[in-house]
Amino acid sequence: MERRGTKRGAEKTEVADPRNKFPSPALSLPTDPTLYSGPFPFYRRPSQLGCFSLDAQRQYHGDARALRYYSPPPTNGPGPDFDLRDGYPDRYQPRDEEIHEGLDHLLRWLLEHRGKLEGGPGWLAGAIVTWRGHLTKLLTTPYERQEGWQLAASRFQGTLYLSEVETPAARAQRLARPPLLRELMYMGYKFEQYMCADKPGGSPDPSGEVNTNVAFCSVLRSRLGNHPLLFSGEVDCMDPQASSTQPPACYVELKTSKEMHSLGQWRSFYRHKLLKWWAQSFLPGVPNVVAGFRNPEGVVCSLKTFPTMEMFEYVRNDRDGWNPSVCMNFCAAFLGFAQSTVIQDDPRLVHLFSWEPGGAVTVSVHQDAPYAFLPTWYVEAMTQDLPSPPKTPSPKD
Ligand code: GDP
Ligand code: MG
Repeated sequence: MERRGTKRGAEKTEVADPRNKFPSPALSLPTDPTLYSGPFPFYRRPSQLGCFSLDAQRQYHGDARALRYYSPPPTNGPGPDFDLRDGYPDRYQPRDEEIHEGLDHLLRWLLEHRGKLEGGPGWLAGAIVTWRGHLTKLLTTPYERQEGWQLAASRFQGTLYLSEVETPAARAQRLARPPLLRELMYMGYKFEQYMCADKPGGSPDPSGEVNTNVAFCSVLRSRLGNHPLLFSGEVDCMDPQASSTQPPACYVELKTSKEMHSLGQWRSFYRHKLLKWWAQSFLPGVPNVVAGFRNPEGVVCSLKTFPTMEMFEYVRNDRDGWNPSVCMNFCAAFLGFAQSTVIQDDPRLVHLFSWEPGGAVTVSVHQDAPYAFLPTWYVEAMTQDLPSPPKTPSPKD
């Protein structure tokens, strides 16, 4: 990964020339962490606008039927002893990863709620709509040294939509995924099954199938700098015992990680994994991540809760750590870059933002297939008149 330093110097970063009366948008965006180390930008406290569920057949339901409830083993008992390999592969129904859903489920939610969105008329026209997972990738970009990304962007009725495109490298890796990695992915979902009940106060049932088509998604509103955001993210469970039962404050993210035995292993965990955990949970305001540590046999014997707002403390004094300000400043810079690059309002026009580690974010322009991602059913329905536009003014944020 030494090309990082050398390539950076050779990078041609074009910025708008202030002497130019009609500055053209920048053609690329650098990602070096040193460029984004200013103060933490404004980030509106995320509020939940709604939710939806995907069932075992990956069918959409505009309700919380797939929400599960946090149910850890009793603290006075023997502690966890979760065999994460149990049920693999016979009780595993993995989602078909060849089906690229893009923003479709989120767009269905938005279509059904567009007439009653808070923020006042016109709020959506100024917003960015995307998945939480796409924003997570933006947050971690200044520190990412392994995997690049591509984000397709289209402007429609003012709103900027961002939808990830699987890179050729990611596709090749997915198709060649080693059997052990497949099993590790299963183990992450199996952990959720050991820790969650279908009803508040209920007990987990690890005898059933693990079906990764099932998902509960929260739809949230926030704002980063001057960029209003509407995004959705999958939520593992809610804690009925949480001090606030109001989402997203009651949500819990579940993770598994290798058991650690040396200070070096913990350091590396803080530097790499905790960054990803922080970015994913900070965005939607999920306050706690509960980690299950698995031994080499795949058994979780210990749990640890990491409050999202305390994660940075583990790397605050680490020269090779990460900084939340860098993550958020870069994300804000990318959103500004995208907003000033995508000028034409056209659901069939795509600006494809591409990034590889060691380089800058670059842009290419495309029309229709294969990159256009706003479905005809969405564009046509949005082009009809609103059923009943709200007439009452909403409070400003
Ligand atoms: P995450 O933060 O990466 O887990 O992604 P989100 O929470 O933003 O999820 C957005 C949507 O993508 C949800 O419908 C998820 O079920 C789905 N999703 C999450 N991870 C994956 C994945 O690895 N592959 C595919 N195809 N879909 C995913
Ligand atoms: Mg999880």
